[in-house]
Amino acid sequence: MKRLQILFFSFLLISTQKAQDSTNAEMKIYRGIATHINDLAHTRLDVSFDYSKSWLYGKAWITLHPHFYPTDSLTLDAKGMDLKEVSLIRGSQRQPLKYSYNGLQIRIRLDKTYRYTENYTVFIDYISKPNELKVQGSEAIKDAKGLYFINPLGKEKDKPTQIWTQGETESNSCWFPTIDKMDQKCTEEITMTVPAKYQTLSNGKLVSQVSHNDGTRTDSWKMDMPHSPYLFFMGIGDFAVVKDSYKGKEVSYYVEKEYAPVARRIFGYTPEMMAFYSRILGIEYPWVKYSQMTGRDYISGAMENTTATLHTSALQQDARQLADGNKYEDYVAHELFHQWFGDLATAESWSNLTLNESFANFSEMLWAEYKHGKDAAGATNYHDVEKYLADPSNPSKDLVRFYYDDRESMFDMVSYSKGGRILNMLKNYVGDSAFFKALNLYLTTYKFRNAEAQDLRRVFEEVTGKDLNWFWNQWYFGSGHPVFDITYQYNDTTKKALVLVRQTQQTGKIFRIPLAIDVYEGGKKTRRQVWLENETDSFSFPYTKRPDLIRVDGDNVVLCQKEDHKTLENFVYQYKNAGLYLDRREAIEYCAAHQDEARALDLMKTALKDPYFDLRSLTISSLNFEKPNVKTVFEPLLYDIASHDPERTVQARAIEALGSYKKEQYKDFFITKTRDSSYSVAGNALGALSLIDGPISQFKDAGATVDVQQEKALDITALHKAASSDSAASN
Ligand SMILES: [Zn+2]
Repeated sequence: MKRLQILFFSFLLISTQKAQDSTNAEMKIYRGIATHINDLAHTRLDVSFDYSKSWLYGKAWITLHPHFYPTDSLTLDAKGMDLKEVSLIRGSQRQPLKYSYNGLQIRIRLDKTYRYTENYTVFIDYISKPNELKVQGSEAIKDAKGLYFINPLGKEKDKPTQIWTQGETESNSCWFPTIDKMDQKCTEEITMTVPAKYQTLSNGKLVSQVSHNDGTRTDSWKMDMPHSPYLFFMGIGDFAVVKDSYKGKEVSYYVEKEYAPVARRIFGYTPEMMAFYSRILGIEYPWVKYSQMTGRDYISGAMENTTATLHTSALQQDARQLADGNKYEDYVAHELFHQWFGDLATAESWSNLTLNESFANFSEMLWAEYKHGKDAAGATNYHDVEKYLADPSNPSKDLVRFYYDDRESMFDMVSYSKGGRILNMLKNYVGDSAFFKALNLYLTTYKFRNAEAQDLRRVFEEVTGKDLNWFWNQWYFGSGHPVFDITYQYNDTTKKALVLVRQTQQTGKIFRIPLAIDVYEGGKKTRRQVWLENETDSFSFPYTKRPDLIRVDGDNVVLCQKEDHKTLENFVYQYKNAGLYLDRREAIEYCAAHQDEARALDLMKTALKDPYFDLRSLTISSLNFEKPNVKTVFEPLLYDIASHDPERTVQARAIEALGSYKKEQYKDFFITKTRDSSYSVAGNALGALSLIDGPISQFKDAGATVDVQQEKALDITALHKAASSDSAASN
C-alpha cells in the first residue's frame, strides 16, 4: 500500500490525538496473531449492487476446516451486514445453522464437531450497507468501510460512477463474511452482476461474461492460487482497458476513457518492471495476470490487491503533466513488488508489516537504479531518509512493534522509508548476490504462507552463514538511528590521519555499524572497512601526502544524521571525485552555506551542470540572490539553463529564479515559455511575467497566445499547483 503523503500526515494528527486519548493500558495490549480455530480454504461470492441505496446484495459460500483442534463452531468477521440466511451446504441442500450476530462477527454453531481433515462449506445470504456502517463508537471505521460507491446516482457532474473496494487493513469483511486476518489464505471466485456498460476487475482471471436482457452483465473472476482476504478486490466503472503483456500474461491498465491515449506513458514500464523484478528475485511473476486501475476519491495512494492494483486517480496525468515526467512511476514499481512481498509471501501480522512495506519501498530504489542509474537510486535513498526524519516521533519506534494503539499506525515512515533503508544497509553488508539469494529463499519458503521478521533473519543466516541477531535486534526490534559527529586530525610530522566518529544520539544506545572509510590520497582511493561499536571510535591511517579527502561511509548507505567536519577543499574534492549522489549533494549544501567564498561559488557553477537534474534544481534553489555578486555572476548561467536544460523541471526552476530579477529584457523569453508543453515551465514563466507586469490579465495584451489548454495554465491556481507539484515531486 502506498499512502498519500497528505493523508499520511492528517492521519498522524488523528492518531496522535487518539494516542493521547487512549489509556496506557491500551498501549500494553500485545498484538500477536489471532488464534487459528478454523482456516479458510475457498471463498465463492455472488454479488450485485443497488446503486440507489449504495448496497451490495451478496451470497457467500465459504469453505473452511478446523486449524488443528476439532471444533463445532465458527466465527466469521462480517461488519455491519443484514443477514438473511446462514446455513450449511449438504450436497444440493442447505441446512440452517444456529448463529448469533453482533454487527461485527457471526458466531455459528456447526452441525457437528469437525476435524482438521474435514472441509465444510457455510452459505450466507446478506446485504452490505457500507454507508450505514455504525460500529460501536469507532471513529476510524468511517474511513474503513471496505466498499465504496463513487457518485452512485450520477448526480455529481464530471465525476464517473464507480465502485471499488479497499481491504487493507481489515475492511474487506465489510463486504463479505470471512476470517479477516492477513495470515488466512484461500482461493477465490467472484461473480458480479453489473450494468452492461461497465468494465469489471477482480483478482485472477476473467472466466466468463454473460449478458442479460435487462441491460446487465454477469462477470465471473477466478483466483485459483491462495491469497489473504485483505487482498480481495472488486473495481467497476466506465473504464478504457489498455492492454499490454508480459511473457504471454495479460497486463492491463484501467483508466477513465480520456486517459486511454496516455495510459502507456503512465503505466508502460510495467512489463519491463515485471521482467526486472522476476530476474533479480529468481522467481517469475507468480500470478495469472496483472492489472492496474485508477479509482476516483480513493482513500489511499495505491493498494496491491493480488493481480489487481488500485491507484489514486492522481496517476491520470495528461500529456502536458507528463512533460514534467511521470510523478507516479514509484507507485507502479512499489505495488508491483508487493505482488511478491505482501501477496505471495505475506507478513503474519500488522506488527510485522515491514515484511510487506519495507520491501515495496526498497523496490522503488532498485527500479530507480536499474532504469535511471545510480544517481536516481541515491536520490530515492536520500529523500526516503528525509521522510523518516520528518516526523520527530519516528526515531522512538521499533520497526517491528508488538504493542500499538491502532494497527493503522503501523503504516508510517518507519515501516516504509526506514525499513527500506535498513534493507539497503543489509544488502550492502551481505553483498548483492547473497541478498538476492536470501530473498529468493524467503519467497520460495514462504510463498502462499505468512512470515515474521525472525523468519527473514533465518533465511539470511542460512544463505550467508553469519549470525545476524545483532542486526535484527538493532534495526528490526530496536528504534532510532545513530547521530555522528565526525572529526579529522592530520599530523604532517608523523604522517598520520586520525578519524574520530562520535555517536551523539541521546538515547543511551550505541549502534554497531560496519563502515567503509575511503581515503583519497594523490588521486588514488583506498578503502578501509571498519566497525563502529563504541560511543567514540577512532581510526588512524598513515599517509605520504596529506589526503585530499577522507570519506566516511563511502557507499552512502548508513541511515544516520551527522555533523561531518570537513573543509571546503574536502567538499569540493568530494563533489568531483567521490561521485555518488549524496557525495555531490553534501558538497552543494556546504557550498550553499558558504556563498561568500569564491571557491564555493565556483563549485556551485559546476553543479549547475551536474549530470543529475535533481542536483541542478537544488543548486538553483540554493543561490542567495541577496548577495549582489551571486546575482550578477549567475544571471547568464540561469538564462542558459532556463533556455536549454534537458529537464523541464530544471528549466522551470531557472525561470523562477530569473523571474526574481524582474527585468524587462526577459519578457519576450518568458512569453515564449508560457507556450511550453510543460505546466511547470509555462506556470513559472507566467509567475515570472507577473513579477514584471503585475496582474495576470495583462499577459494576453502582452502578446501571449492563449489556447484552451493554456487557459488552464493562466489560472493562478493551476500555476501554483504546477510549481508546488514540481517541488513535491523532488521530495
Ligand atoms: Zn505498500
